[in-house]
Amino acid sequence: MAQDLTRPAVRRLQPYIPGRPAEEVAREFGLSEVIKLASNENPLGPSPLALEAIRQAAPQIRLYPDNSCRELVAELAPRLGLPEDSIIVGRGSDEVIHMAGCAFLDPAEEAIMGDPYFIIYELTTLLMGGCCVKVPLKDYRFDVEAALQRLTPATKLIFISSPNNPTGTILTRDELALLMERLPSGTLLVLDEAYREYVTSPEYPDSLEYVRQGKNILVLRTFSKIYALAGLRIGYGMARPGLIAALHQVREPFNVSSLALAAAVASLRDPEQVERGRRVNEEGRGYLGGEFNRLGLRFAPTQSNFVFVDLGVDAAAAFQALMRRGVIVRHDPLFGTPTHVRVTIGTMQQNRRFIAALEEVLAELRA
Ligand code: PMP
Repeated sequence: MAQDLTRPAVRRLQPYIPGRPAEEVAREFGLSEVIKLASNENPLGPSPLALEAIRQAAPQIRLYPDNSCRELVAELAPRLGLPEDSIIVGRGSDEVIHMAGCAFLDPAEEAIMGDPYFIIYELTTLLMGGCCVKVPLKDYRFDVEAALQRLTPATKLIFISSPNNPTGTILTRDELALLMERLPSGTLLVLDEAYREYVTSPEYPDSLEYVRQGKNILVLRTFSKIYALAGLRIGYGMARPGLIAALHQVREPFNVSSLALAAAVASLRDPEQVERGRRVNEEGRGYLGGEFNRLGLRFAPTQSNFVFVDLGVDAAAAFQALMRRGVIVRHDPLFGTPTHVRVTIGTMQQNRRFIAALEEVLAELRA
């Protein structure tokens, strides 16, 4: 019998199960149009400036990309009010999370995360041989007090997404201040702001203030969401220069593609991109909230481009029934609740289609 060569840490990993592509679902169920509201993508698509930049950069793809991502970092630094050596670019913010695990987490060290959590936090922690300390959300929100009580001398990382995936709730200014005040000197907060552009709450903190002060914080952002470049894989992290230098130690050379870099720079130069995305999202957020109230469904107070909603029926069955009607939402055992799904806010046309399908599905499953 062949010997299993796999590292024990790898054997412990659960494979990541992505949402199914719309084309595949259309084929399987014989549908002409399928809408995917499962992966929190921007339904409006990328900036025309980004598409043009990709066309212009395409002839150069025989060359390796700029290893230092100089142009993008130079574009970001003044906007963020940070020095260039406080910024690192990754193949999506996923890669920066992975780099943080590689650079900072030793075997048997602990990483605190809310539960439910974004899967990459767990994958990275387990891959490094670390331990996940899962703190249940309270009223759909990260529970700062409970997390502080779980601190031990072995706590190396705390992962928080704000807005939180899958619930869309934020960490407030006061909560972040409390956390930063009580953070031990040997613990790093990884604050994942993938969805920050969608936030409208005045309670949302300026986390970069703590980066400027040189605190133990790594802030993550991405071009996958409001900038609609998910298919190119590009995101970035911000921290004091010493922490960024450690991430560079474990970064693969040429980790970010030249097309992704060109598109990201062009996206930042299009002020309309963020405004458009926010406008459509706010309208959809209001609409879905109103419809969920009308249908008597409880949902998390989202500040993001998705809603975590309690359908009050078996979520796995609802997911299947919605899919048969051409609407893909996210149902994940990881959510730890049998009745919730996460639905991405789409265009108003998509939102209306989702609600119409949902009403049919609820009628069917409640019968
Ligand atoms: N953080 C959170 C909370 C996310 O939901 C996602 C995307 N699903 C990411 C990070 C990863 O984004 P990226 O595409 O930049 O790797």
